[in-house]
Amino acid sequence: MPENCLFCRIANKQLPAKLVAESDHALAFHDIAPQAPVHVLVIPKAHYASLAETPDGAVMAAVSELAKRVARELGVEEAGYRVVVNTGDDGGQTVHHLHAHVLAGRRMTWPPG
Ligand code: 5GP
Ligand code: ZN
Repeated sequence: MPENCLFCRIANKQLPAKLVAESDHALAFHDIAPQAPVHVLVIPKAHYASLAETPDGAVMAAVSELAKRVARELGVEEAGYRVVVNTGDDGGQTVHHLHAHVLAGRRMTWPPG
């Protein structure tokens, strides 16, 4: 684990976060600066700098399974939600540990900014 990786430290419970759900390989917690009434981050417990760094589809399978469960458990499944994986500079990625945003609770706009 990279020593200075923020989300590794959250995954290892060295830094506090408002946890929402957990599976064997992924963890979900509230974003510190929510952009919607529901804004949860879902990360693999293992470190991958971005989607581009994942070795196979298993990593995102674990992330999307937990994202789906979070939407169900937070009661937004029926109304709908958005799952976003910002990747690289142009993608708007600022934390370099793969994460999916689960956004819900308001009508999302398109195209994104
Ligand atoms: P990105 O821009 O990389 O797609 O998203 C990074 C997200 O991490 C941002 O939405 C930001 O608010 C969130 N974030 C940054 N630092 C922390 C933190 O220490 N705790 C939590 N819970 N979220 C964080
Ligand atoms: Zn990490």
